[in-house]
Amino acid sequence: MNLDLRELYQQVILDHNKNPRNFKILTNYNHFAEGYNPLCGDKIDIYVLIESNIIKDVSFVGNGCAISKSSASLMTTILKGKTEEEAKQIFENFHVMITGKLNEEKSLEELGKLAVFQGVKEFPARVKCASLAWHTFNAAVKNEKTVTTE
Ligand code: ZN
Repeated sequence: MNLDLRELYQQVILDHNKNPRNFKILTNYNHFAEGYNPLCGDKIDIYVLIESNIIKDVSFVGNGCAISKSSASLMTTILKGKTEEEAKQIFENFHVMITGKLNEEKSLEELGKLAVFQGVKEFPARVKCASLAWHTFNAAVKNEKTVTTE
């Protein structure tokens, strides 16, 4: 990865950390879960409103490092309007990318903005920070109230 791209990615992450999107408790939601990453101390609560299989709204609150917070923020902007199946597919691609197993350019294109987290694969301890919001989203959708990363 060239240096300019890396800097751009860092800026996106810092921006979402400083000005997180959808950082609130939804007044109208039907799924909720609390996520905790003991390795780093990240705590992220996810609120979701799903109607007719469409993610109508999604938000988060919590405290954590820049990676966990910006990842949650970006996740909420990307999942809104998607179906549950689409969300599952995006998370699969995302997880493959941050664990360094992505080798298809096409999959990286599909990830769009989430590609800013591809540098995480060089820092294995950060993988759980980047994926916490997604695991918590999955737990909420499955009506599991809490999730702790191992
Ligand atoms: Zn963290």
